[in-house]
This record gives sequence, C-alpha cells and structure tokens, in this order.
Amino acid sequence: MKRARVACFGAVHDAVEFEGKLKLADGRVVEPEDVVWLSPVEAGTIFVLGLNYADHASEISFNAPDEPLVFLKGPNALIGHNAFTRRPDDAIHMHYECELAVVLGRTARDVSQADAYDYIAGYTVANDYTIRDYLENYYRPNLRVKNRDTLTPIGPWFVDASGIPDPMNLAVKTYVNGELTQDGCTKDMVFDIPYLIAYLSSFMTLREGDIILTGTPKGTVHVYEGDEVVTEIEGIGALKNTIVGDVAFART
Ligand code: MG
Repeated sequence: MKRARVACFGAVHDAVEFEGKLKLADGRVVEPEDVVWLSPVEAGTIFVLGLNYADHASEISFNAPDEPLVFLKGPNALIGHNAFTRRPDDAIHMHYECELAVVLGRTARDVSQADAYDYIAGYTVANDYTIRDYLENYYRPNLRVKNRDTLTPIGPWFVDASGIPDPMNLAVKTYVNGELTQDGCTKDMVFDIPYLIAYLSSFMTLREGDIILTGTPKGTVHVYEGDEVVTEIEGIGALKNTIVGDVAFART
C-alpha cells in the first residue's frame, strides 16, 4: 500500500494511491497535481548516515567509517514532493543525495539484528541535499550543511514494510533535468538496515515515526538554480524537487 499526506480542500488529509490518483481518507479522489504533497510521515527523530556507501565516501575523498557515522536532522528541513529547495546564492558546492528512508513503527531498545525488521513500519525516499561550503569543524559538523529549511525533500509515498520484501536490494537513482546522474543499489550500504537499528537502539530508544536516512551511493553532482531533481528508489517512488535561488525563493 502506498500512502501519502497531502493538503487540499483547506485541510491535511491521509491518502492512498488509487488508479494513478489519490484517494483521500474521506473517499474523495483527487488528481496528484491538485494537492500539496507533505512529508508522508510525521517525523520524530531523524537519524542520518554519513558515508554509508563506500563508493560515495571515496568520491568525496573520505574512507568508509568502521562504525556508523550518524547525525540528527530537524523536521524543519523536511518538505514534500514537487516542492522547492532554496540554494543560497553564495553556495558553490551543493549536491543531492538520494537515500532510502526507513520509518520505525514501534518503540525499539536493544533490538538484535535478527529482530530489526520487526520494528520497521515502512519506507520512503529522501533527498538529503548537502551544501558543503558550510562545513565547519569537528564540533559543528553538519548543522548549516544539512539542516537548512527546505533542504530535505521526502516522499511522495510511504510504502508499508510488507510491500518491500528486500529493502537491501533496491535501485537508487537520481535524474537531474531528466538525465540519469546517480545509479546505485541499497545492497552496497556499508552498514545495512538491521545493523543500523541494532546499533542505534543499543544506546538510545527509537520510537514510532523516527526515520533513518541510510546514506547515498556514488554519483552526487552539483545542482543549480532551475534544476529539476528526481530521486527515485525502486518500488517506493520518484520524488521531484526544483532548486531555486534566493530571489526566486522569496517569490515561490
Ligand atoms: Mg546523506
């Protein structure tokens, strides 16, 4: 089942995919282009993996870590499908990162790798845009780089875990203005999903609605004002976003 959260008719609605359209919880059927797409999940804590694909780590001149490299992201950064992301005019090094987003379905503490999949509600797609110009130092590693408003499109669909039998073998692709620029597979993660849930839950409690962004493979390239970026994960969905500059952002 593919689910979404959308705004239309003056309210926020839960919806499901229905014959290429959206069926709202109240039964009304609407066209996908007639709604505002929201994050399909009301996010709790958002965990984000850095350098979780060895080929991406090497393309930005790092070695893959020997322990998960995780930071937190605030919900302010999230925006839905078809929305606009602001690229500050002084940024030079901004790239997209297509990532499988794992959504927790229940409280998890000290979960074993063997049991980890039982704690997953489902999956969505995230684009963890990065503005590397703002990378600071050891003590403020990613705040201005990753947590800016609009910097993390997510959606369009939340897909139930039962609909994705093998999340560790999904194609991960990005298209910029229609051209394929990133072409990877979730099987190439350094730390796989069960490992990440076991690792995180070994020292903190995970809750329903928490999200793990699992990292991005090789193929991140710079994006510029006007670019249309589609991040797509096999079986889950294609998430569209458009880059705007400071002036256009103020008008959108
Ligand atoms: Mg990332």
